[in-house]
Amino acid sequence: MISLQFLGAAGTVTGSKYALTVGKHRIFIDAGLFQGTPEIAALNHQQLAVDPAQFEAALLTHSHVDHCGYLPRLVGDGFAGPIYCTSATKELTSLMLHDCAKLQLEESLAPLYGESEVARTIPLLKEVAYRRRLTVVPGIYATFHEAGHILGSAWLELELVENGETVRLVMSGDLGREDAPILKDPEPPVACDYLVVESTYGDRLHSTEPIGPRLIQIVHEAMDRGGVLIIPAFAVERSQELIYLLAELDPALPIFLDSPMAAQACQIFESHRQLFDQEARERSRLAGGLLAHRRLKICATSSQSRQIFQNRPPYIVISASGMLEGGRVLHHLRRSLSNPKDTILLVGYQAEGTRGAELLAGAESLELFGEEVPVRARVEFLDGLSGHADYAQINRWLQQLTEPPRQLFLVHGEPVSLKAQQTRINAWPGWSAEIASLNQLVILKED
Ligand SMILES: [Zn+2]
Repeated sequence: MISLQFLGAAGTVTGSKYALTVGKHRIFIDAGLFQGTPEIAALNHQQLAVDPAQFEAALLTHSHVDHCGYLPRLVGDGFAGPIYCTSATKELTSLMLHDCAKLQLEESLAPLYGESEVARTIPLLKEVAYRRRLTVVPGIYATFHEAGHILGSAWLELELVENGETVRLVMSGDLGREDAPILKDPEPPVACDYLVVESTYGDRLHSTEPIGPRLIQIVHEAMDRGGVLIIPAFAVERSQELIYLLAELDPALPIFLDSPMAAQACQIFESHRQLFDQEARERSRLAGGLLAHRRLKICATSSQSRQIFQNRPPYIVISASGMLEGGRVLHHLRRSLSNPKDTILLVGYQAEGTRGAELLAGAESLELFGEEVPVRARVEFLDGLSGHADYAQINRWLQQLTEPPRQLFLVHGEPVSLKAQQTRINAWPGWSAEIASLNQLVILKED
């Protein structure tokens, strides 16, 4: 029997986690944390529907915590197999997991794991090249393809063979936008029997407005007001993209990248130039580095971070976390949120239940370090920097298939978004889309 079980990102955006069974062989595909509201985060503490000790390997599409952050818990629960991923994913994941363990100890009364599980997980990460067919276990063959979502990200082509019969499965992982800065575009999908596709933006389209002019306008307005421009951004990918875009616009302002993790991620980016798109490779060659910019100051240590406050505004601070859930950005917010001269620029997806989502929805105050801080700063939102394709792009990606899959499963979206995509795709001749539910087990091939 060949089966796929949805252990996360089913009816919600986070917690991507799948159990794939071919005969007696079992592997995981992604193992991410649930994030967002307390109810969703509580799912991390529920007993997993499967026993990790019985799994032989794992495939990891990319290094976002909602795809890799549960791996150390699997290891803590007895999983000891290889975790296959691309080289950039391997490096970025070890960065993410150390950070995750730290956050858990700081924030959670019942951490899912600690540094010792992370230390046992990292040696299990095994590098695979893109477009190389890998034998994961007998009967499961995987090929990693460019997903254009974050450095090293992949969608997976899986050939599942049992008793001489082959089932083809494509797992989209998270798909990026066409023409995203730095990254190559997602590779088109391959013919398959089953396809699992993300629906983060199943009900929304990104703005078609070019990012550069809008970003420079926001920068100029912040400069005119003489205030600080704070850009909360994920330490990995979004921060590098912002630096890349700002370097091109060359604003006459100091730019501080205030995040030790972003600083390390910058080095990982610089060592993977072969993964950049042509423009980024060219710029990186000319400038002597992708992120080389004379006004950029990378603040890795906390004393470098504190020194930022000694500068006279205007200046720009890029700092994590992107949804204002933790990290150094909170210290910047504490100073700036109630200052009408300052600007907070939100640039990415803001998940339900996060401070970022509250701010975006027009909250009058935010809770920071146990205090309610009134929002008097200007709040801006820059669309088009999201790491996820919108539904039009996802659907263009799907429609490159000449034959529809037998069944398509929609995951990684809020309920409204999943429903919108389901309705749209089911209207295509020959297509059948189903919204996966948590712990649902789908038989891909009977005995
Ligand atoms: Zn992702």
